[in-house]
Amino acid sequence: MKITDVRAHHIRIPYDAGPASFRQGASAISALDMVVVEVSTDAGLTGWGDAFAYVCPKTSCTAVTEMVAPQARGLDVPDADGIPAAMEQIQRNLHLFGRYGITMFAVSALDIALWDLAGKVKGVPLHQLIGGAKRKLIPAYASLLRIGSPEHIAAECGRAIKLGYSAIKLHETTVPAVLAAREAIGSGVPLMVDMNCPMDGPTAIRFAQDCKAAAPMFLEEPVWPPEDFATLAEVRKQGGLDIAAGENACTVHQFSQMMKAGAVSHAQPSVIKVGGITEFLRVAALADEIGVKVIPHSPYFGPGFLATLHLMSIRDEGLIEVFFMTRPACLWGGHIDVDASGHVAVPQGAGLGYEPDRGVMEKYRVA
Ligand SMILES: [Mg+2]
Repeated sequence: MKITDVRAHHIRIPYDAGPASFRQGASAISALDMVVVEVSTDAGLTGWGDAFAYVCPKTSCTAVTEMVAPQARGLDVPDADGIPAAMEQIQRNLHLFGRYGITMFAVSALDIALWDLAGKVKGVPLHQLIGGAKRKLIPAYASLLRIGSPEHIAAECGRAIKLGYSAIKLHETTVPAVLAAREAIGSGVPLMVDMNCPMDGPTAIRFAQDCKAAAPMFLEEPVWPPEDFATLAEVRKQGGLDIAAGENACTVHQFSQMMKAGAVSHAQPSVIKVGGITEFLRVAALADEIGVKVIPHSPYFGPGFLATLHLMSIRDEGLIEVFFMTRPACLWGGHIDVDASGHVAVPQGAGLGYEPDRGVMEKYRVA
């Protein structure tokens, strides 16, 4: 079976996050942009992938079309055992365009689609190809966007708990914000604090010490720049809190440097950024070897979210990240919604488990 085409679809679905906002520097993000990648074969089977696309959907689409599609068209569809070698060759062919960022987002999409196809060829769900599911339901944490005001944070935390979530993550950088969340949810609910790399080492150490009363499960990416693992290790040691990072790390090689530097207690591979399922599995295996926990980055709702469910189903523990927002449409007919006990069901169909709703794709298609 050969790959006949690789197409990138830019889908934009609006969202409502109440008092929270989603910004990338000066620009507000008013809708969820996704790049859904369709890999066609001469046998009529289709694989679906996902390339990270916040504020860069057109760029990610172009990377798929211009860089990845020519590498994939005409290739024999590999089985599960053959995907790592096929993807390594493509990583080698494209390495001069950057080992992290747009190139890797596009490479990730192809990798996910190949795994989807491998499952469909065999008629088994992805989790069966990667070790076998240990869990049918994955506990979700509500990942709140940036809010700022402690009162609004407390209210949104309360709302998330009422909806069934059993853990919360903030995207905040002030101590009052963290304390307000802890007060709202009580002492038994895990609370994570995602900072998105704002501070120097001494400031982050002080922040960690000042947050101790709220007992966060971890601080995520407290330090600028994200690749300064020595400073991150220092913050972990002197701040006295667990540290999570990895959504901005490049392949298993940079994760290895990060984990061996003692920088993190929790590794956060993102399947649509790090190089797909193949690279995620390598990161998870290394994390297990070193004794670092895995808590993936997955604030998105495309095929990458399905892949993350499978990747977490083969692990004994670990939460999945779900953006705390409402959307008017879902590519998967609502099957990935969080249930009243705060869980998301692992798909059981072949490959990723569900086919995207073509009607939703057409309605929200940008290109
Ligand atoms: Mg983050």
